[in-house]
Amino acid sequence: MTRRIVMAEELGYCWGVRRALEIITEAGDPNNPVATIGDVIHNPQVVQRLKARGVDTAESVEEAAQRGFRRVAITAHGAGPERARLAAEHGLELIDTTCPLVTKVQRLGQKLVRQGYFLVVYGDSFHPEVRGVLAWAETSRAVAAKHIEDLPWNAPRGSTDPDAKVPPRKVAVVSQTTKNVDEFMEFVTQLTSMVARDGGEIRVCNTICEPTSERQNALRRLAGEVDLILAIGGKKSSNTARLAEVGRSYGVPSYHIESEAEIEPAWLDGVEVVGVTAGASTPDDVIEGVVDWLVGQGFAPPEDGIRYRDLDDVPAY
Ligand code: SF4
Repeated sequence: MTRRIVMAEELGYCWGVRRALEIITEAGDPNNPVATIGDVIHNPQVVQRLKARGVDTAESVEEAAQRGFRRVAITAHGAGPERARLAAEHGLELIDTTCPLVTKVQRLGQKLVRQGYFLVVYGDSFHPEVRGVLAWAETSRAVAAKHIEDLPWNAPRGSTDPDAKVPPRKVAVVSQTTKNVDEFMEFVTQLTSMVARDGGEIRVCNTICEPTSERQNALRRLAGEVDLILAIGGKKSSNTARLAEVGRSYGVPSYHIESEAEIEPAWLDGVEVVGVTAGASTPDDVIEGVVDWLVGQGFAPPEDGIRYRDLDDVPAY
């Protein structure tokens, strides 16, 4: 039987990352370089390429100002309102590449807080997107949590234990856009059992973005027909790590790799069909490098080639 490669129907750069890269590439100018605060994308090769075009990285607005940049950029993950204020204070021009789907979560969080909800942001507390959503909420009545133990409460509403810390009456939850929907639902179920007692009210907003859900769903469809899954993406890319997790949850050996250099030939022993997916910040040529390598190992190329979505294919949000 011919050994072959099957590509996930949705993979690689999401719409928001393609959009951010377009904006920042256009703004790049070696004579007037721009500093993105944090990596514009979790991919070392792309970061290097952008550097040659006058797009560098700084840890903070203050650092960019000290290093003599006159322009700074917010990445697709977004940032809190203080970023624009600091840029203005230092006399720096601000380029905003925040993904509109992240902006939507920031605005929703603000609205929920104004409506009197305590805001829970399901996600990684250190992630720039989560920090930005919390900053826009402009309240101490908001937290990030990935597990129920991360919450400031240890007992359900109505508990009579004198040491109990119970949730407030109104709690709302939103998600980091790149999270796994099954894990979000599990978290929500546990949170609901703490809040929805004794007159408590919980509002659940699934803000996992459509491109992220589509990539996970495409991988679920693929999992049944492959013997091995390669999820391609930078090591810092949490959505690529999620894809490998989804593959494993279907019992298929799944590896998160940055490029073909990390593939161990032993993984391919006895494998007839390899499934390939890639995270939202994985460049097209890195995906193609892995596919070419597999073809070099005797696998038939994907029947329909590799299909990428571009900005025109995505409906307006
Ligand atoms: S993963 Fe979703 S929210 Fe994040 S940049 Fe891409 S489209 Fe936007």
